[in-house]
Amino acid sequence: MPKHITSGLKYLAAVRLRNQGLSQKKIAEKLDIDRSTVSHYLNGSNLSWNSIEFAKILTQLNNKDFLLVIQNLFHDLDKIRVIALIFKEKNYNGIVNDSCIGCGLCVDLCILEAISLNALTAQINSFYCCGCHTCEEACPTNSIKILEEKDDQKRERS
Ligand code: SF4
Ligand code: SF4
Repeated sequence: MPKHITSGLKYLAAVRLRNQGLSQKKIAEKLDIDRSTVSHYLNGSNLSWNSIEFAKILTQLNNKDFLLVIQNLFHDLDKIRVIALIFKEKNYNGIVNDSCIGCGLCVDLCILEAISLNALTAQINSFYCCGCHTCEEACPTNSIKILEEKDDQKRERS
């Protein structure tokens, strides 16, 4: 069953990437699948529509649950990041204030490994952050704020 679900997610991811203008070769590289599979996906052949419908439901989960699901489906950090970023609907800014004590809990908890410690202070890589708020909720000193970027900020960056 998980294999079917990952295929369903990869199908949805391939369609998104195609809509962003990526070639079949680039889509295959990004999703780590062969080009003939991408071609099947995009031509709608040999597809398990039940798996695709199920995968669509997964993409509608909140950010935290979606990350937990893809962590369990894909295991490998690079693959998890690729899927998370393809389905990321918004950009986020992570702010860490001076009360950070450098305990590293947030670093350990971030599924996307978007947090590192620098001179005993957490630093958040907004590119990878998918807004699950796990770090914010777990920080013992309430030092993290994860802020959703407004659409106009997103446009300025792109
Ligand atoms: S969990 Fe909080 S205190 Fe600990 S390193 Fe992260 S931001 Fe700093
Ligand atoms: S909200 Fe925090 S834990 Fe979640 S992806 Fe962003 S940095 Fe990682």
